[in-house]
Amino acid sequence: RQPTDLNVLADEYLRLAYHGLRAKNKAFNATMNTDFDPNLGQIEAVSQDLGRVLLNLFTNAFYAVHKKQEAHPQDGYVPTVSVRTHRTAENTVEVHVRDNGAGIPEGMQQKIFQPFFTTKPTGEGTGLGLSLSYDIVTKGHGGTLTVESEEGTGTEFIITLPA
Ligand code: ADP
Ligand code: MG
Repeated sequence: RQPTDLNVLADEYLRLAYHGLRAKNKAFNATMNTDFDPNLGQIEAVSQDLGRVLLNLFTNAFYAVHKKQEAHPQDGYVPTVSVRTHRTAENTVEVHVRDNGAGIPEGMQQKIFQPFFTTKPTGEGTGLGLSLSYDIVTKGHGGTLTVESEEGTGTEFIITLPA
């Protein structure tokens, strides 16, 4: 574990995910929004592990907005991935990763954290990202990883970590 600035980590991995997808697919494009709490402070964390969590959440989010745009090229749809950090009064730090993709049906929201659960075609997803992320956040850091999603509107994942 080392002192980790989640604002820096989130910014780095957001760009890494974006450029990784751009390199594979020139047609990929999305708007990125960041809202970083300047008073977040550092937390004790395994930064490499939290980096993997963020990379997976951002990659999933970019995938969701890209698919939505491909499926329904509508005027005025701006594929957008947003990240927000926030230090709470309860002395926890939160990272919110939000997208305006197709969302996750309510009955599927519990299954997405299971190993090998994926809706992606072979070669595009292993279904391991969220189960690994869940273990890193909960067992590895004593935090929580939750999802809020509405079909047609989008999805938000929330990481909460003890500060
Ligand atoms: P993979 O990305 O390899 O499919 P994950 O464990 O990262 O595996 O995600 C599991 C599944 O959860 C995805 O296949 C997808 O159905 C769903 N999912 C995850 N993130 C999102 C998101 N931001 N929007 C819509 N669906 C999502
Ligand atoms: Mg994934």
